[in-house]
Amino acid sequence: MEFDLSPEQQAFSDEVEAFLDEHVTAEVGDVCRENMAQIVDTPPRRAFMRKLAERGWLGMTWPKELGGQDKEGVYEYILNEALARRGCPQIGKGVGIIGKTLIRHGSEKLQKEFLPQILNAQVEFAVGYSEPQAGSDAANMQLKAEKVDGGWKLNGQKTWTTSAHFADWYWVGARSDPDKSKHDGISLFLIPMDHEGLEVRGMPTIGDELTNEVFFNDVFVPDDYLVGKRGSGFRYIAEALDLERFTMFTYSPTEQRLEELVDYVKGAKRDGRPLREDPGVRRQIAQLSTDAEVARVMGLKFVHAAGQVGKKPPTVEASKYKLFATQLSQRVGNAMVDFAGADGQCRVHTEDAPMRGRPEMSYRYSVIDTIGGGASEIQKNIIARRGLGLPKNF
Ligand SMILES: Cc1cc2nc3c(=O)[nH]c(=O)nc-3n(C[C@H](O)[C@H](O)[C@H](O)COP(=O)(O)OP(=O)(O)OC[C@H]3O[C@@H](n4cnc5c(N)ncnc54)[C@H](O)[C@@H]3O)c2cc1C
Repeated sequence: MEFDLSPEQQAFSDEVEAFLDEHVTAEVGDVCRENMAQIVDTPPRRAFMRKLAERGWLGMTWPKELGGQDKEGVYEYILNEALARRGCPQIGKGVGIIGKTLIRHGSEKLQKEFLPQILNAQVEFAVGYSEPQAGSDAANMQLKAEKVDGGWKLNGQKTWTTSAHFADWYWVGARSDPDKSKHDGISLFLIPMDHEGLEVRGMPTIGDELTNEVFFNDVFVPDDYLVGKRGSGFRYIAEALDLERFTMFTYSPTEQRLEELVDYVKGAKRDGRPLREDPGVRRQIAQLSTDAEVARVMGLKFVHAAGQVGKKPPTVEASKYKLFATQLSQRVGNAMVDFAGADGQCRVHTEDAPMRGRPEMSYRYSVIDTIGGGASEIQKNIIARRGLGLPKNF
């Protein structure tokens, strides 16, 4: 396994950077929004994604027979991290999660319908697993899917659904077989977001990320829009979460923030003395910088372990990466607030504040990193059980 880019990969990275220099405007990229992977929420951002599609950069790692290019995962990683570093929308949900899960488990009909739309940046998804009584324990979801003639009727509620207010389709888990064990009674469906009977109510959260409650009132889903097999939904969701824990929690925004923090430390003074001479600050910065390198390598390790699209994603590597990278993101946010002192409380985008007011935003946003996609405790449970063979916690 290589930790540095090969000449071909470096050439691709340079091409991506040149493309971004040309096409990223203030409407498309904003590093101050932090790691907002899912912000394909305005016409300029959608247009930007279509430009990426025109370059043939969406689905590069997918199999050729399904519209991809059979490229190694590292190319997708280079692209996604470059986008994230500039605060742009990323390829995560469509290409990285739903597309890859449909490639493994979707029917030919769903593949034919959705994969080309994903490759052409014509569709955005929202992902609905969490419910008021099913967050960490996603297998406890109770949204009811009742079998009816020609399809399913869904009733109940989801919560915390990011993107539901602008997405086109809803990727949603529901309880189709209440008599089976909780893991075997869940099925996965695709539903148009503007479907009659779906009601979306905004739920703003810390870090300015808008999530949503979604209510289902007799929402009919035709049989064709059941993903894979009835009752296997939780298995697909678990795999999709493995992909999410890597794809949606990019490392480069943390690296980029850390660079901004180091620049600040080099120039700032505290109580009349240069901050760079404070031994505590120096030690902390050196530790964060070392940990950032660890997170980078863990990301590459996931890419390496994931291998070709179509394989089962590596669960333990995904959890280890997510745990470490998101806790690091939070530690960098905390250090930004600490080092900036009282002025660190100024709102983001305050031009004369330390680091343009980013500390307060990073501090608020990085809380989400350790919750969304499965909280840190859940990642530790997975590592302990699946990675180390320790018993389930009680
Ligand atoms: C900004 C944001 C965006 C989100 N977007 C989405 C989305 O698009 N789609 C979606 O489906 N969900 C989404 N979520 C929901 C997210 O996945 C859940 O919040 C998360 O899984 C935790 O669930 P919970 O909030 O119900 O907390 P709980 O499950 O109630 O957990 C509360 C606390 O208990 C701990 N805990 C729970 N069980 C255990 C255990 N077995 N062992 C040890 N500790 C435990 C948790 O770690 C946590 O600290 C989002 C959440 C946020 C904050």
